[in-house]
Amino acid sequence: MRRTDPLIVGGGPGGAAAAIALARHGAKPLLLERHAEPQDALCGGFMSWQTLATLDRLGIETNALGGHKVSEVALFAGKRSVCARLPAPGMGLSRRALDTRMLARAGAAGADIEYGVNVASAETGGQLRLADGAHIGSGALFLATGKYELRGLKRDVLPERDSWMGLRYRLPATAGLRAAIGGAIELHLFDRGYAGLVLQESASANLCMALRRSRLAEAGGHPLDLLRQLADEMPSLAARLNESDWPSHADAVGLVPYGWREKTGADGIFRLGDQAAVIPSLAGEGIGIAIASGRSAAEAYLGRGPHAASDWQERFARQARRPVAIANRLKALAEKPSNAGMAIPLARIPGVLRLLAGATRIA
Ligand SMILES: Cc1cc2nc3c(=O)[nH]c(=O)nc-3n(C[C@H](O)[C@H](O)[C@H](O)COP(=O)(O)OP(=O)(O)OC[C@H]3O[C@@H](n4cnc5c(N)ncnc54)[C@H](O)[C@@H]3O)c2cc1C
Repeated sequence: MRRTDPLIVGGGPGGAAAAIALARHGAKPLLLERHAEPQDALCGGFMSWQTLATLDRLGIETNALGGHKVSEVALFAGKRSVCARLPAPGMGLSRRALDTRMLARAGAAGADIEYGVNVASAETGGQLRLADGAHIGSGALFLATGKYELRGLKRDVLPERDSWMGLRYRLPATAGLRAAIGGAIELHLFDRGYAGLVLQESASANLCMALRRSRLAEAGGHPLDLLRQLADEMPSLAARLNESDWPSHADAVGLVPYGWREKTGADGIFRLGDQAAVIPSLAGEGIGIAIASGRSAAEAYLGRGPHAASDWQERFARQARRPVAIANRLKALAEKPSNAGMAIPLARIPGVLRLLAGATRIA
């Protein structure tokens, strides 16, 4: 059986950040990614100023990423809206572009990356079984499978009656849509969910929703019918959609356990990104948490080896507690139409949106 230390499973921002940080300091990580190449993963694709600073520290030149500069946050509820400057500019960037750049950086730093390798399950004694039946062993596992559970190492998430899910629609960024969105990340609140809209590279816009499953079920389970319903309810969203071509396709991801954190940890297993903490998407900080966790877990491993895992996991859970809790409360407020109406006058108080945008970041 093949053995390797350290071993990273998953090539999203969490796994890639760990690979860069480990390889830069002489450890020779192996990263396994099930896709043959980086995908345009379902994600809002907004990166905060804090995330950009962490990427810079990993040696990724964020100015060269080609993303769209985002300086404002605009909130829409019913017929009302409010706009505020972010504490510092963030960026709209597709996940294909981000993951490609991060994995290239990891490879250049000396990490081995194997694409098209699907890890099927974790077995006893630190062994992983691959989909082709082969086994690989490691005493230092960096679990970065994101939204996807690995059999044998599933997150202890409690089932929710009406769970959250994600939908994503890609829109061509016509001149009209570019002018309307400008340098903002837009949040359109609706009953049991919200939609984030941002411009990204290559003249495209990303419309990404987090919503309760019951909301999609009421639209017959069809994401395109749901979009038409939402446009009827929300003049702000309809105005944006009418500036572009209506999408003919949507991506979906189910069961997003917002607010969950891994609090205990296990020897030799570092859970990164969404496997460590899931911050509600309206905060736009999931990528930031993934990168920060990958970087700091790598530092812990480089200092004390696999035995650092439990302490590190508990420490990271404490670090993520406040931003996740604040984002969770905002989510609970935003998903109820009556609250969402009140949110606008509150958000108009000078400094409030800016303060909340800052409070949901992870260092
Ligand atoms: C609706 C929605 C909108 C969001 N919007 C934003 C936003 O605007 N900004 C933001 O910062 N965050 C946002 N997020 C959160 C963000 O997408 C995640 O927090 C982030 O992707 C987590 O990164 P990760 O590396 O942990 O996992 P992922 O990005 O999910 O990457 C996991 C990787 O592991 C691979 N993998 C999985 N299982 C296996 C396996 N068994 N074997 C091998 N490889 C495997 C996958 O192919 C994938 O490449 C959003 C999330 C949702 C649901």
